[in-house]
Amino acid sequence: MKIAVIGTGYVGLVTGVALAEIGHDVTCIDVDRNKIAELNQGIPTIYEPGLGEMMLRNQNANRLFFTDQHAKGLDGVEVIYIAVGTPQRADGSANLQYVEQAARDIAETLRDSVIVVIKSTVPVGTNHHIKEIINANVAPGIRVRIASNPEFLREGSALRDTFKGDRIVVGTEDPETGNILEQVYKPFGIPIVKTDISSSEMIKYASNAFLATKISFINEIANLCEKLGADVEEVAKGMGLDHRIGTAFLKAGIGYGGSCFPKDTNALVQLAGNHHHDFNLLKSVIEVNNHQQRMLIEKLITRFESLAGKRVAVLGLAFKPNTDDLRESPALVIIPKLVDLGADVICYDPIAANQGTRWISAPAVYTKNILKALSGADCAIIITDWPDIKRMEPDTYARLMASPIVFDGRNCYSISDVKQAQIEYYSVGRPSVI
Ligand code: NAD
Repeated sequence: MKIAVIGTGYVGLVTGVALAEIGHDVTCIDVDRNKIAELNQGIPTIYEPGLGEMMLRNQNANRLFFTDQHAKGLDGVEVIYIAVGTPQRADGSANLQYVEQAARDIAETLRDSVIVVIKSTVPVGTNHHIKEIINANVAPGIRVRIASNPEFLREGSALRDTFKGDRIVVGTEDPETGNILEQVYKPFGIPIVKTDISSSEMIKYASNAFLATKISFINEIANLCEKLGADVEEVAKGMGLDHRIGTAFLKAGIGYGGSCFPKDTNALVQLAGNHHHDFNLLKSVIEVNNHQQRMLIEKLITRFESLAGKRVAVLGLAFKPNTDDLRESPALVIIPKLVDLGADVICYDPIAANQGTRWISAPAVYTKNILKALSGADCAIIITDWPDIKRMEPDTYARLMASPIVFDGRNCYSISDVKQAQIEYYSVGRPSVI
């Protein structure tokens, strides 16, 4: 099938590459000319394991193209995906300006009837709103059908999630559109949930809100464990073996970040409020998450009377491992706070280090060399559980640091391993090792 994908960010690029890999003829369109220039040279613009190779293979097979010209990219296509950003507005609601612009771009260039699939995460009602925009601007006689197809991939395992996802959700107004999209996705062999558009839009928000709730729940249990002398890792294991609960998303830490959970939970609270529904549960989930990031700093302040002039090594910038994405990363809150407190901050990230200065204006040093970050440090703070950080022997902190005091926001090491090393260790929801 001939397909266009509008937006070549984390979702659009992965979707375009994956659709080409299963045999479709795909053109990805983006307004960012620099991105398109890099992509046309076979350089992936995001870090995602396996993406570069798959992208190049499909470009070489002439199944995958990139352009900044909507007219060129949309010419003769049967299905158009909209995968542009829906960032958070100041009031917490989803900013739909990019989706609306994409709709106008489509309407202005469309010459044939198509299915427009909204993959961006959008509040309930947006698909209908977008259809109205397209219909108001498109040439007479062109039939546009709309479909909601929310994305569930996780950065860091995006290709795996696309090829081996649990389900694909397709919301349509008519069964025929659902059947065509089923054909598009057939080669993946993933179960398809066909539903109405509003339910499809809601499935995405409800799923993210539920996962965020699980994270905030286990973080609250972790905070209680610290007060009561229990170990949250043991508690989560014991809970998770109950199949009604499950082990996923029961990992205590400094809270969720990234481009989805924070903005989608806020948008759902806002959407509920617009319909006179006070979503108290979700408001608490958000508050617990904000508090969780502050907790780590509070622990540091309790341990050191003053951070002035202390050399602090921050390990990890990305909001989670295997991505270069810093959007809503706890690092964005923690690093400026450390600088404010007078600390001398050096940050390590194996992939995202060179993005530090782009995202954080507070003066800090960024490196891809973990040994350099730790050498001579007075304390270390783990923000991202990158595999190399988890693999490191706890003893390394003792060997390299001026004083090996470690605040582990991701519970990277077992307490028994830490006890073997000569380090002072504070983690989340577990006894401290002093
Ligand atoms: P992103 O910010 O990484 O990428 C968006 C891209 O769209 C940018 O490259 C931008 O230049 C381009 N764009 C904007 N307007 C355009 C237009 N009119 N025409 C062509 N290109 C245009 O965003 P993302 O992280 O890929 O997220 C996209 C959507 O998917 C969001 O709604 C997000 O909530 C949702 N989502 C994201 C993830 C994730 O892990 N990142 C997962 C599931 C769902």
